[in-house]
Amino acid sequence: MTSVQLVRPPFNMWYENVPQLTDLVAPPIGLSIIAKNIRDAHDVEIIDGLGKPVSYVTDQLSADLVGVSALYANYERALEILESAKQGGATTVIGGPSVNYLAERILTNHSFVDYAVVGDGEVAVPALLAGQPPEQIPNLVYRAGTIRRNPFQRVPVTAFDLEDVVDLDLQTDNFLPISSIRGCVKAELEGRCSYCMIDTKFSVMRPELVWEQIGVLHDMYGVTRFWETGDTFMVGTFPQQLLEIRPSELEHVGFRVYTSPQQITPESARILKQLNAIDIFLGVESGNDEILEQANRGHTVQQAREAIALLDWPGMKLHLPFIYGLPGETRETAERTYRFAQEASADRSALRVISSLALPFPGSKLFENCREHIAAGEHPGDLDNDDVFNYRDLTAFHLKHFTEVELEDMLAYVDKTMALVQSEGNVTSYDINRE
Ligand code: SF4
Repeated sequence: MTSVQLVRPPFNMWYENVPQLTDLVAPPIGLSIIAKNIRDAHDVEIIDGLGKPVSYVTDQLSADLVGVSALYANYERALEILESAKQGGATTVIGGPSVNYLAERILTNHSFVDYAVVGDGEVAVPALLAGQPPEQIPNLVYRAGTIRRNPFQRVPVTAFDLEDVVDLDLQTDNFLPISSIRGCVKAELEGRCSYCMIDTKFSVMRPELVWEQIGVLHDMYGVTRFWETGDTFMVGTFPQQLLEIRPSELEHVGFRVYTSPQQITPESARILKQLNAIDIFLGVESGNDEILEQANRGHTVQQAREAIALLDWPGMKLHLPFIYGLPGETRETAERTYRFAQEASADRSALRVISSLALPFPGSKLFENCREHIAAGEHPGDLDNDDVFNYRDLTAFHLKHFTEVELEDMLAYVDKTMALVQSEGNVTSYDINRE
């Protein structure tokens, strides 16, 4: 029996000061899904480093195989953990949203990382542990003389529980994430938004299985509020089907979901309300049609206004993200977005604002724009080969070449927009290192 530790790293130091919303802090369900797939054959535990010093994780490392889940905001910590695990003799694996685009670079730049898993890990990790040859394992990136990437395979979305999380601190009145939707249907049909790095292969769980999963988590942990992490929730008739077959004993459970303005009609709003959607992310992003069009958002400001008006019922909180510094941004368009945020937040108490810069995440169109336009010596990094980025520098570079605004001005707009919502716990940001 092989011992396995799956780790969610703490955030990078520069990210620790971002207002963290307690009810957005949730158990690491991606790792829990993998753990459920290997626990019968292996000795597995999940170490959740969120909000803890990195030593909380490194002091516990002892397994034969250590896997980490990496995001842009914890990437350096993820590498630190894998380096420590490798010094202890472990086989090391990295996965998570930051890895899809960077996998080959990671294996090139860091000899202490043995494998990278792109996309879903619940097939690749069990196969690795079973000793299958790497060339036969879907979604695996590995060394074999050169670095090779196996074909991507979207695996059926499976259910999970939290039994493998060490020191599980579950707030049962908080939203518990579920993962019934993988990929994004909008990305698959109309292409990704320019700032998004999601992989485009899409799959969705059968509605019967979704309720089965919710029933299990409800009965095991007493949770009554569930956070569907798929972007977006409005996949064809999926919400309607969920509503039609909802078991009577689960009628009281509530949902947090992601939506886009063009998907909100009187009918879809009615379904969301009947399904007890009590937290709704609505991707409004900008107060300018030309910026939205360049970003391939697929909606207009008027559609955003109408969706905001439709999504309004007692007990429901609306989450509105605003992005500054998208391609084509000027002082005037930034001001219009700010005024739109003002308008949207006026007289609306149940509101959360997410105010951010457009970050050129590796794998996004914004990053590709930077990579293609970079001139020798103009940026301290190497966008063709690096896997660690100074997001402040990268964002400033993007703004310089694709907008008419400057970093400090856009940061001021980010902060000003967050200040529109005074109540503590109702503003956050996808922030960058401010120094
Ligand atoms: S930003 Fe959201 S809606 Fe746009 S492509 Fe990405 S996941 Fe889909």
